[in-house]
Amino acid sequence: MHGMPEGHTLHRLAREHRAALAGAPVVVSSPQGRFAAGAARLDGAVLDDVESHGKHLFYRWDNGELLHVHLGLVGTFTTHASTAPPPSPAARLRMAGERVTIDLAGAMIVELVDPAHAEAVRSRLGPDPLRRRRGDRGRFGDNLRRRAAPIGAVLLDQSAVAGIGNVYRAEALFATGIHPDRPARSLDDDEVSALWGTLSSLLRAGVRDGRIVTVAPADVGVRSRARIPDAERVYVYRRGGAACRRCDAPLRAWTLAGRTITACEACQAPRA
Ligand SMILES: [Zn+2]
Repeated sequence: MHGMPEGHTLHRLAREHRAALAGAPVVVSSPQGRFAAGAARLDGAVLDDVESHGKHLFYRWDNGELLHVHLGLVGTFTTHASTAPPPSPAARLRMAGERVTIDLAGAMIVELVDPAHAEAVRSRLGPDPLRRRRGDRGRFGDNLRRRAAPIGAVLLDQSAVAGIGNVYRAEALFATGIHPDRPARSLDDDEVSALWGTLSSLLRAGVRDGRIVTVAPADVGVRSRARIPDAERVYVYRRGGAACRRCDAPLRAWTLAGRTITACEACQAPRA
């Protein structure tokens, strides 16, 4: 599926990069040159940890530096085995460890930040359903109660909840039977809890599977998640006009917050 990566992809990248590079010195360079000064400050440092928050990545180094990355729409990491080919001229960042070399091209943000800046970035982000922080479900509920905008728009607002993109917003609203046009503040406590729980479990499944699969195997006639064909792995996303997998009603697609959303208005009844 195309478009900006959603939170599960960033969480997997953080995990993979931590496993591949943390705990040893990393040779850091900027083949393309735009990050040359930053790369020079990281070169030879030991990577301590990598964390994702929503769609942002933070790399913490033993010399006190903090690297902030946001992929944007076209940013891509490429991981090479220990004998990496010469970097592409488009690679803004290359991190070479003992076992793997990781190149980054096309990212929207590649910058060294001080802890205060990192904290400012993170304080503007809503709770991330992948982070299992105490109190985050309550913060999510508070953020919804403050917003009169449609819930389908608020789920894409990274300051309300971090890491949700166009696929998970449509699928989570379908799974919880919530109409995308309902004002966020009209959701009752049970709906808020169900939505938070669904976002958490869908994103966790995405981290596990490495792809977005939201359908239950039985709903597409197979026995296991691994057997779900790529073309049938979602309930509503990009299925406007097709039949609902649950009730056979035709799915409706419309534009909400600048992106196409699809819903089943039988399963997701509009209500006050
Ligand atoms: Zn339906």
